[in-house]
Amino acid sequence: METPLCSICLESDDILCTGCQQKIDDGEMEEVAVEVSRLLFDLSQDIPTLEDVEVKEVRRTEEAIVVITAAGDGPKVVGKNGEVVKELADEFDRSIRVVEDSGKPQEVIENLLEPVDLQGINTVYKPDGTEQKIVVDEDDKRRVPMTTDEFEDIVEQLTGESYILSFE
Ligand SMILES: [Zn+2]
Repeated sequence: METPLCSICLESDDILCTGCQQKIDDGEMEEVAVEVSRLLFDLSQDIPTLEDVEVKEVRRTEEAIVVITAAGDGPKVVGKNGEVVKELADEFDRSIRVVEDSGKPQEVIENLLEPVDLQGINTVYKPDGTEQKIVVDEDDKRRVPMTTDEFEDIVEQLTGESYILSFE
């Protein structure tokens, strides 16, 4: 298993090595990544499919935890019938979103929104260029467990492009 933690810190429940602590101090890794990575490692003792996953980053948003995996590893981190995600949700008492770093904008956006439906991605033409707008039904707004800023930030990180989230 690969996570933002080094393998020594991953397998211990103790304090972090100076390298991992430095990543937190530098803002490269969130505290929640430590807890989530260690829990996933513990779960991998019973769930062998977790053994070869790569977790790239874990971020805490207003009401969720977003687990960013390497391309193709999303289903393993979700688990059979969502068993892994359920464990995480119980442990942290938050909803969990698993997003693959696939480089495919539509997929990233849909995974982040799940179970809320994406209404569409529109190109808006403005005097100073174009803007990509992600449209979600305004009735679904409270079901999106993160702020608009958090959402847009994660989408930009994973797609390399900036998008506007709009509830309409
Ligand atoms: Zn470490």
